[in-house]
Amino acid sequence: MLLAALLAVGLGTPADSTLIRFLSINDFHGSLEPRSYGWSGGRQVGGAAALKATLDSAAAECRCAVFRLDGGDQMQGALASNLVYGRSVIEAMNAIGLDAAAVGNHELDWGIDTLRARMRESAYGWIAANVFDSVSGRRPAWAVPYRMLERGGHRVAVIGYMSARSKAMISSWAGAGLVWRSGRGAIRDVLDAVRRERPELTVIVAHEGAFCDSLPCRGEVVDLALELDSTEVQLIVSGHTHSLVNTVVRGIPIVQSRSSGTAFGIADYIRRSDGSTGWRIRVETTWADRVTPDSVVEAIVAKYRPMVDRLAKAKVALLRDSLLRRGDQFALGNLIADAQRAVRPGTDFAIMNNGGIRRDLYPGQLTYNDLFELQPFGNNVTRVWITGRGLKEVMEHAVRSGRANFHISGLTVRYDPRKPVGERVVEMRRTNGTPVRADRTYILALSDFLQTGGDGLNMLRDLPNRRTGSTDLDALSAYLKRLRQPVIPPAAKRFISVVP
Ligand SMILES: [Zn+2]
Repeated sequence: MLLAALLAVGLGTPADSTLIRFLSINDFHGSLEPRSYGWSGGRQVGGAAALKATLDSAAAECRCAVFRLDGGDQMQGALASNLVYGRSVIEAMNAIGLDAAAVGNHELDWGIDTLRARMRESAYGWIAANVFDSVSGRRPAWAVPYRMLERGGHRVAVIGYMSARSKAMISSWAGAGLVWRSGRGAIRDVLDAVRRERPELTVIVAHEGAFCDSLPCRGEVVDLALELDSTEVQLIVSGHTHSLVNTVVRGIPIVQSRSSGTAFGIADYIRRSDGSTGWRIRVETTWADRVTPDSVVEAIVAKYRPMVDRLAKAKVALLRDSLLRRGDQFALGNLIADAQRAVRPGTDFAIMNNGGIRRDLYPGQLTYNDLFELQPFGNNVTRVWITGRGLKEVMEHAVRSGRANFHISGLTVRYDPRKPVGERVVEMRRTNGTPVRADRTYILALSDFLQTGGDGLNMLRDLPNRRTGSTDLDALSAYLKRLRQPVIPPAAKRFISVVP
């Protein structure tokens, strides 16, 4: 026995063998091109061509059955994708050899018809098991709940799962007539159908996430796993929160690999030397300088580059300082709210959701592409006519969590997070110091996403409103050009907690 153990050590790795390898990405967000990040030390990361080369080498080294999965939010978010409504990304993913992708909430940003067109162009299957027609209670035709994949004699079932809060994150026109249900109950029939197919493994690709900054990890995908059993689901590929997740909940491994193709997951289903099976999982960075970019994917990306370049490189403004999303109130949010208020003269206030502010900005020349990445959704700036009383309700919602999850322009709000929800706003004053009057009607500017009830602002939906015709991106671009250069954004807090 002892000798055998020593021999095994002496030989290095005992005879663990990988049976199946799942390579995964999530929240690609149209990131066809590599780029450097604050954390990458000047090195290029990601890009579709480097991603393909990296996944190919991870697949080759395994000498096993390999499946490539995506946790959703694949298309929305970069000019090279948005200018063609995601078509370029589908082409790249087809070449990358994706097997299945979860439908992310942002997949619906251009409407169901556009999504269906992209699905038709995809060589891989899109899956979503927990979205239903609100009238019939059935899954809509485009929402295929699961797919059976087969490779090298291994049959694997892959079930799609969308964020149960998708309704609030999708523009109301795109999500009309759809409801999302959460948890095991929403997919029970699918789990039953999959069981009857007797796959070797069942995987959920969930566009639903978690954070693991402090352990245990928390988030909706953890809540989902807590309702499942490792005999029915053996792996979850997660997404949506752009975080690094590599954890195990109730015996089910969960993996998420940040976002934008900057990282990818390797989930190995292994057979150990003692005959038992298990998982070995890691998340790796997609260093673009470590591989030779795949030439087929590079040709696809290059085809779309000229369309983007002229627009992307246009200079918009000069920035003096870094504008970082730190805490719940920051200068960049104030700046965006100010820009939306400035679209039409006579607009009293503006409100912007923190979740719609998608990147930090750094000192120096700001290009149109920087602003595009900051506000990629093409929301229409809309004006709403609202009483001071109604505005208070909006502000109460904004501090519901005990912190301000929005930015405002034209006013300052003092709030007391110790008070009950709905009674926290202590004072609302216009920038000139006059109090906001309950019975007076004001004009509030905001994105059509918020106006139609996004981020929980349902109280705005039925108020008189008018679209300005200007996108949030154009509003910001025009506003920045008018400011004195270099731009010094307004840093003072506008939501002020009375608790020091
Ligand atoms: Zn998402």
